[in-house]
Amino acid sequence: MNNDNFKENDIRPKNLMGKQATAATIDIGRLLIKANEFVEVSCPACESTDYQKKYSKYSLNFVECKKCKTIFTNPRPTEEVLSYFYKDSVNYAYWNEHIFPASEEVRRKKIFVPRVDKTLMFCQKYNVKTNSLLEVGAGFGTYCLEAQSRNIFKRIVAVEPTPNLAKTCRNRGLDVIEDMIENIHFSEEEKFDVVVNFEVIEHLFSPKNFIKNCGRLLKKGGLFIVTCPNGQGFDFMVLGEKCNSLDHEHLNYFNPQSLSLLLENCSFEVLESLTPGKLDADLVRNKVLEGEFDVSQNPFLKKVLIDEWESLGDKFQEFLADNNLSSNMWIVARKI
Ligand SMILES: [Zn+2]
Repeated sequence: MNNDNFKENDIRPKNLMGKQATAATIDIGRLLIKANEFVEVSCPACESTDYQKKYSKYSLNFVECKKCKTIFTNPRPTEEVLSYFYKDSVNYAYWNEHIFPASEEVRRKKIFVPRVDKTLMFCQKYNVKTNSLLEVGAGFGTYCLEAQSRNIFKRIVAVEPTPNLAKTCRNRGLDVIEDMIENIHFSEEEKFDVVVNFEVIEHLFSPKNFIKNCGRLLKKGGLFIVTCPNGQGFDFMVLGEKCNSLDHEHLNYFNPQSLSLLLENCSFEVLESLTPGKLDADLVRNKVLEGEFDVSQNPFLKKVLIDEWESLGDKFQEFLADNNLSSNMWIVARKI
């Protein structure tokens, strides 16, 4: 493993993932009990109602918008169902107690340090002030702590509505608001220079409302950074419904174009989109090694992902990342 790269096993230790799968199965049952309360929605990016069936997994229905190629769960759990679901999620509890603590150091180095580096780089590139930073969905608090350690932002606030996680953030000395973003209000002077959220919007019933609320807390000209899965990324396109990211928690799979469109419709100027993902090739390779995905009839994938993995794997991943083909994407926007 060179300095920049990491593999799936580093952040999702194999010895812990068996029990995690059991926890997820329990959660899926808890969600499906409420299936009669699910509602039909239009495309979460462009609001078109012209979509077609794409995948079916765990008795959930995933469709693809014909206009912007966003893939989304439809019908989907309402906000009330999601709030019931996450409040007592067995899977979240398992991640908090086991997987996050066991993998936090690798996550910090390989995920959170680069996230903070990129945030600061974009502030500099787009000439944005660095007085105040708000993270929505702060989780374990690792990003905010890393940002704090740089001594650049004078004020850092973590928004975390989940009680256990909010408590963890407070115990780690962070300034925490334990509430949903729609309930949070700041005066004009108190608004933020930078608002970030990482891997949040794919979980939400209404990403548009969330993005508008993020905009509401930003100063004019302030920077908004959002990351999420790219439904047009390599492992999604290759694995289809076998892709691990296609699951019961993720309702929205945007792509760089469709999420840019949504941001533009919420009073943002999109500055750039990028897919700096590191794991696509490794994720597909692991599916092959586990016997869940067959490349014996696909000589190209067999060559890159298996036969010549040692020499080609990292370079292939870099190619995906450099060409907006990775399934982890970032959008950087400015509030207008
Ligand atoms: Zn659409």
